[in-house]
Amino acid sequence: MYTQELVSAASIAARDTGTSFSTFTNLSRSIMLAMEYRGPKRIRAVQKPMPEIKHPQDAIVRVLRTCICGSDLHLYNGNIPDTRVGSTFGHEFVGEIVEIGEAVTKVKVGDRVIVPFNIACGECHYCRQEMYGNCNESNTESAAIGAFYGYSHTSGGFDGGQAEYARVPYANFGPTIIPDDMDLDDAVLLTDVIPTGYQGAEMAGIQTGDTVVVFGAGPIGIVAARCAWLFGAGRVIIIDKEDYRLEFARNYSYCEAYNFQEIGDPVLFIKKMTDWLGADCVIDAVGAEAAGNTLQTITGRKLLLQAGSATALHWAINAVKKGGVVSIVGVYGPTDNLIPIGNAMNKGLTIRGNQTSVKRLLPRLIDHVQNGVLKPKELITHRMPLEEVADGYRMFANKLDNCLKTVLMPPSANQ
Ligand code: NAD
Ligand code: ZN
Repeated sequence: MYTQELVSAASIAARDTGTSFSTFTNLSRSIMLAMEYRGPKRIRAVQKPMPEIKHPQDAIVRVLRTCICGSDLHLYNGNIPDTRVGSTFGHEFVGEIVEIGEAVTKVKVGDRVIVPFNIACGECHYCRQEMYGNCNESNTESAAIGAFYGYSHTSGGFDGGQAEYARVPYANFGPTIIPDDMDLDDAVLLTDVIPTGYQGAEMAGIQTGDTVVVFGAGPIGIVAARCAWLFGAGRVIIIDKEDYRLEFARNYSYCEAYNFQEIGDPVLFIKKMTDWLGADCVIDAVGAEAAGNTLQTITGRKLLLQAGSATALHWAINAVKKGGVVSIVGVYGPTDNLIPIGNAMNKGLTIRGNQTSVKRLLPRLIDHVQNGVLKPKELITHRMPLEEVADGYRMFANKLDNCLKTVLMPPSANQ
């Protein structure tokens, strides 16, 4: 079930020019290269045992591309509970199926697949509503979310794809064949970034002519800003503190872009631009790592007294007009945050948020990529061998070398 786009897609294009269950085994190796978490801000590339088929519906994928995401920074910084030493991150990966469990019928060895970051059964109460980020089966320890690859034991405890090989559960449901004419660099951004930016705009409930503000000009905010036009936005404004990202957003997302360190109070700034009403829709594409408010930073990021800094969310609630919509894409930890919930109630806001339902959006987004409406690989600024994963995280976390999106290339990708 799709939400209606309000603008013809062509119009945005025009702006651009366990082996016991296994039925097939061709892996003779017992170890592989993988990223490993050793504690906050400490990661390494190490040799780990190869993943195995543990369930008849599992597959093993040889990873051909994997990315570092802003969500990985919450793990890297120690903000997500139960992130265990020894785990492998990586929820954005594409690869080739090299082994399948005996109950896998929908994909076969040799298929090249997009692996959505959500691990979803495809059959439970929530999956039947296409809420694949909320699968009731893949992460039975949590009442809120389904499982994600490489995203702590809070999110199911599955190892991720920043590795040469990865175990893919529910292989009859999640993995989606990469069209023959699709570049792997485009495909890997369909595992999360493009669907998440798109869903951020979709959840904002944009009506024709609306003014949409996006906090955060990381890959997700930049895609949300670009997709806002598809839903009929009349004006799109993005706010961050990194000038190189703002410049990228101006060109890629055709939006106005402002540095919050130069505009004074961002809420006042937005009110002034909107006849003192506020924006119609505001998208929080920042999450727990937000800068800009000392109290939030100390309590949320340094002392971990709340589940991350809620600065961007605070600004979103205060900068949207009465009756407006706040779309929360940014990830926060599962406990409480210092957010102005009284303002949200008194202003009559609609607040929507979720992990992205990647599989729901893939058919439409594959179309958009094939038709040139969305151009994922233009977001990629860096490509590194998996061996240099620690440098990759340091560069992305510290916004060095104008880094926006890094693709890691495992040695297995070259075989
Ligand atoms: P990123 O870290 O690259 O980008 C975040 C940006 O926010 C940075 O450019 C940073 O400078 C900026 N920022 C910091 N404080 C700000 C503030 N107060 N106001 C405005 N901008 C501020 O991350 P990303 O990969 O773009 O991801 C963005 C968020 O989306 C993260 O929280 C990530 O976890 C989340 N995410 C959610 C989903 C989902 O399914 N809901 C999926 C992927 C990512
Ligand atoms: Zn991601």
